[in-house]
Amino acid sequence: MRVTFTPIHRGDKEVSGTIAVLQDVTEQERLEQSRREFVANVSHELRTPLTTIKSYAEALDDGAMDERELGARFVGVIRNETERMIRLVTDLLHLSRLDSNQSTLRRQQTNVPEMLEEVADRFSFQLRKKAIRAGVRVEDEIQSIWLDRDQIDQVLDNLVSNAIKYTLDGGRIEIAARRVDGGFIAISVKDTGIGIPKKDLSRIFDRFYRVDKARSRNMGGTGLGLSIAREIVKAHGGSISLDSELNEGTTVTVVLPALQAGGESA
Ligand code: ADP
Repeated sequence: MRVTFTPIHRGDKEVSGTIAVLQDVTEQERLEQSRREFVANVSHELRTPLTTIKSYAEALDDGAMDERELGARFVGVIRNETERMIRLVTDLLHLSRLDSNQSTLRRQQTNVPEMLEEVADRFSFQLRKKAIRAGVRVEDEIQSIWLDRDQIDQVLDNLVSNAIKYTLDGGRIEIAARRVDGGFIAISVKDTGIGIPKKDLSRIFDRFYRVDKARSRNMGGTGLGLSIAREIVKAHGGSISLDSELNEGTTVTVVLPALQAGGESA
C-alpha cells in the first residue's frame, strides 16, 4: 500500500486540510515481478540451447567433423536444439498474440466425436512407440459445437502430447467428452502416468513451470503447453483444470460452452 499526503491550502499559507491517497500497489508490484520473472525465464530458455549449439559447433570445428560418426551425432544435437528453439519461439509468439487479444477466434461448427478421434489418430505413431493404449469415449448426445478448430486442436495436442510424455510404456490414455449442466461440454484427457506432486499443482499452469525441468527438456518440452492451453480455453469462455495423483495419473479437463452457430447454447 502506498500512502501520499497532499496538504490543502486556503489562501497563501494556511493549511486547511490534507488529502491522503491510498494506492494499492501490491497488484502492480505482483505484475511487475511476474514480468521480470518471465523475461528472465525466456532469456534462460533461449540461452541454454544456444550455449549447447555453440559448443557443439566448436567441437565440430576442432576436429569432430573429421570423424564421420561423431560428426553426424553432433550435427544431430545441433539440429534438435535448433528445433526446440523454433518450438519455443513459436509458442512465445502464440502466447503473445493471445495476451494482446490479437488472435481472434475463427469459430466453425465442429463435430466433437470426429475431432477427438482425429487427435488420437495424429498421435498413433507415438502411442504405438510407447505401447500406450488410447481410447476415445464420447457421450451419445454430443455432436457439433461452435469453436475455433485450429486453436482447440492445439489445446488437445498439448494435452495428449503431455499425457504421452509423462506416461510410462504400456500405460493408458482416455480422451472423453460429456455434457455438463448449464450448456457446457467437458473434454478430458486422462492418463495413467507419473502424476504431479500436490505441492506443484497450484503453479502447473504458470509459464515455464515444470515439475522436473530436466525431464521436460529431454522430452522436448517448452514449459508453455499448459499456459497456451489455458489462454485458448479462456478466449472460448471456458475453463481448464487438472487433477493428479502421484504415480497414478493425471486428468486434465477442459470445459467449453456448447455453443451452436449464432451463439445459442446447445
Ligand atoms: P512441458 O513442455 O514441460 O510439458 P507444459 O506446460 O505442457 O510444459 O506442462 C508443464 C509441466 O506440467 C510439465 O513439465 C510436467 O512437469 C507437468 N505435466 C503436464 N502434463 C502432465 C501429465 N499429463 N502428467 C504428468 N505431468 C504433467
